[in-house]
Amino acid sequence: MRVLISGAGVAGLTLAYWLAHYGMEPVVIERAEHLRDDGFVIDFFGAGYKVAERMSLLHDLEAIHCPVLELIFLDGSGRRRITIPYENMRMLLDDRHFSFMRGDLVQLLARKTDSPVRFSTSIMALEQDKERVNVTLTDGSEETFDLVVGADGVHSNVRRLVFGPEERFSRPLGYTIVAFVVEHLDVRSDVFYTLTAPGRRIGVFPLLDGRIAVFFFYRSLQPPTQATIMDELQISFGSLGWLVPDLLELAGKEERLYVDALTQIIMPQWSQGRVVLLGDACHCVSPAGSQGASLAMVGAYILARELGSQHDRLTAFRSYEKQLKPGITRRQQVGQKAARFFFAPENTFFIALQGLNLRLMNWPLAAPLLRRNFAWQDEFAL
Ligand SMILES: Cc1cc2nc3c(=O)[nH]c(=O)nc-3n(C[C@H](O)[C@H](O)[C@H](O)COP(=O)(O)OP(=O)(O)OC[C@H]3O[C@@H](n4cnc5c(N)ncnc54)[C@H](O)[C@@H]3O)c2cc1C
Repeated sequence: MRVLISGAGVAGLTLAYWLAHYGMEPVVIERAEHLRDDGFVIDFFGAGYKVAERMSLLHDLEAIHCPVLELIFLDGSGRRRITIPYENMRMLLDDRHFSFMRGDLVQLLARKTDSPVRFSTSIMALEQDKERVNVTLTDGSEETFDLVVGADGVHSNVRRLVFGPEERFSRPLGYTIVAFVVEHLDVRSDVFYTLTAPGRRIGVFPLLDGRIAVFFFYRSLQPPTQATIMDELQISFGSLGWLVPDLLELAGKEERLYVDALTQIIMPQWSQGRVVLLGDACHCVSPAGSQGASLAMVGAYILARELGSQHDRLTAFRSYEKQLKPGITRRQQVGQKAARFFFAPENTFFIALQGLNLRLMNWPLAAPLLRRNFAWQDEFAL
């Protein structure tokens, strides 16, 4: 079975690996000229960890893991509010947790799969009948596939072509995220710093090669544009202390800012005929929901497994959606609240509550309670 996968991200590359494992022929296309390495450090845990284990990836993940000793939470002027030893957090996840750059995971997955990626290529048009899907690609070629998978992220092209415009399925959460990497910053190399002020948050994470990953996260009712982003950052963060003036200056010089509105994707159905969506394309939980990469790997694993074991693709698509959707929906609900109450608490009262929650991590008696919040890994039948 020949399967076209649009998107060489976490979902697309994991799917390519597992489809080949089940004897199918995946063909991966990617719109960008190369694997994309922009973005921030992601927390990787939960059910995706199990999928990575089944791909024998844990050693490689250990190698790209950026270890820190402490998570330090600062207030808007840079005063220390809370310190959490990293071990306390990792223990809550039974030591099954990594922090690494999204791009490093994508590189790893690309090396793991034998399917070459066709870069600078996207789907221009597709037509399907009962037997196959005819696809016209932007490189001018026309090809026929048994199935097409849209693994092309939150702004999916396949979704637009087959299911309709993005606005129909996107739920903006009212926040913007801006991420970039700087060569140097005067901070400790073993600490993940988080600065919180009402409706705003900054993260500063040291990477393995000495560079520093930075994100700005802030309340914004309009979607950001590259033209206005620096003005928006100045308005939202310009009054804050600590290293914030330096960070704003560095952001202004940066040519490769990752900028996106925090959005969830909610769809009544993830497949239509011979076309199916995967990962952020059909169920983006957003960074506030956390675990986008982990869930993308779970989805890819389940979709491939169902296609490899069911007699017909309709049953496989239905079963894939049925196994994933309830857990994803719960995560999206958590994400909607987390943005306002935890990620960037909107007022000082919520910031105090956030502080209380964080302090629980340093209190051993609270561990069983907190563990329940992290018990996502058992949610999917893998
Ligand atoms: C550059 C980038 C940076 C990110 N940074 C963060 C971050 O800092 N924190 C966080 O929590 N999440 C981040 N994310 C989102 C996170 O990667 C996803 O939530 C998660 O990995 C799910 O992955 P996915 O494969 O479904 O989608 P994505 O990781 O978005 O991958 C989709 C892939 O499809 C490609 N693509 C898009 N359009 C087309 C097209 N028309 N044709 C072919 N290919 C196409 C994209 O270039 C990308 O390679 C980022 C995503 C991207 C693309």
